[in-house]
Amino acid sequence: MFVKNLNYNLPDKDGFFGEFGGAFVPDDFKKVLTRLNDEFEKAINDEKFLDEVYSLLKDYSGRPTPLYFAKNLTNYYGKGKIYLKREDLNHTGAHKINNVIGQALLAKRMGAKKVIAETGAGQHGVASATAATLLGLQCDVFMGEKDIIRQHLNVERMKLLGAKVHSVDTGTKTLSDACDAAIDYWIRHSDEVFYILGSAVGPHPYPKIVRFFQSVIGNEIKHQCLEKEGRLPNYVLACIGGGSNAIGAFHAFMDNPEVKLIGLEAAGEGVETEKTAASLAKGKKMILHGKRQYVLCDKDGNVGESYSISAGLDYPGCGPEHCYLHDTGLAKYEPITDDEAVQAFARLSRLEGIIPAIESAHAVAYLEKLMPTTSADDIVVVNLSGRGDKDTERLLQLLV
Ligand SMILES: *Cc1c(COP(=O)(O)O)cnc(C)c1O
Repeated sequence: MFVKNLNYNLPDKDGFFGEFGGAFVPDDFKKVLTRLNDEFEKAINDEKFLDEVYSLLKDYSGRPTPLYFAKNLTNYYGKGKIYLKREDLNHTGAHKINNVIGQALLAKRMGAKKVIAETGAGQHGVASATAATLLGLQCDVFMGEKDIIRQHLNVERMKLLGAKVHSVDTGTKTLSDACDAAIDYWIRHSDEVFYILGSAVGPHPYPKIVRFFQSVIGNEIKHQCLEKEGRLPNYVLACIGGGSNAIGAFHAFMDNPEVKLIGLEAAGEGVETEKTAASLAKGKKMILHGKRQYVLCDKDGNVGESYSISAGLDYPGCGPEHCYLHDTGLAKYEPITDDEAVQAFARLSRLEGIIPAIESAHAVAYLEKLMPTTSADDIVVVNLSGRGDKDTERLLQLLV
């Protein structure tokens, strides 16, 4: 169900993927992270804990999610075989619940009564509020003031689920500031609260923890593809915000270099413009939110503002493991613009009757570039990270 014991054995004991990652935090806070790492390692070697996680993923969230052969989409390109990994069919509508259920059970095991979470689009906040309610934990969510207005429906959902939403009015009043506020709160209350981090980011051991719980995606892809096709896919595609759905889809294939892994980051209005979130294409190496990574910078070298049509991809940094896979060429990363994603959103809706999240549409969009270059019988898996109900109203206005 989860992937362990590969030849690929990063991060190292200090949390580095090559020169990326680590834990750049104050000394007394290092102790909190060390305890978290120890408890996590114990938990994942405890079959009872793993059974508990998987039993909720199965009966509560609906795993395994289908690997669906998209016949109409395949016919549209006239070659290859395109499969969609249906993470959109999870409870709460995206892959985020995989990680949240794992971390919430870990919180409980460590004796926490309260969890906190940061959120941009509100998807991670909703997933955290959901898991907290299920497990009888209190939940506080930090969200930028601007995002609270933009993502009103998700704020109502969190409140209905019993969570408390803190409005963050510093900086750009968006996700990056919500992360700062959540980290700050955690540092002040670390003995009683557990921080459920929403993507493959943050200081060590978070990128490793998030990857572990999300690795269920790629592991299922592997088994399902072998079952349906008798061989591994040629390509696995996934969109990249912080990088959790992508690393979850990729990780099972790290010992299979013949499987090409492609991450699609949000180019916004274009990598060459100021309005972009493509930190791998354009970022500089620096420390943000406790780890070394590529970060978008302004002309003075400070953390820049990111932009993407998709709130879930609108983050100026990127998970450290993706920075490493990018620099070593173990995975490939391409930018997708707002326009390309919007067209893919409409295309998938009309061809397959599946309305994708605008984040996931970035991965679907890459088929336009990839399919003309593939061989006739190549198998392409697109990780459909979430469903698009949240985006439908806004995107319809763009499409008319
Ligand atoms: C949050 C979100 C993402 C981006 O986060 P990652 O950590 O990069 O996966 C992508 N798709 C959906 C549907 C999301 O909700």
